[in-house]
Amino acid sequence: MTATQTYHYWLPVPDRTGYRWTRHAFRGNRWDGRTAEISVCNIQCAMAQPSELDWFQAPICQECTDILLDEQTP
Ligand SMILES: [Zn+2]
Repeated sequence: MTATQTYHYWLPVPDRTGYRWTRHAFRGNRWDGRTAEISVCNIQCAMAQPSELDWFQAPICQECTDILLDEQTP
């Protein structure tokens, strides 16, 4: 373990149509309420407080997963 380990959190966000939700990873400890954020996979996301259903239905972004796994591999 090194001190350079970065924190991230997951949050479901709607895409531009507003119909499809995806759970992306974001840099930081947790969402601080900002309305726009860049995901780990480099997508500009409109942030909103997700409902329980959003968490349940939104699939996890594969690209975010791959990037984070890559970073955690020494
Ligand atoms: Zn992503």
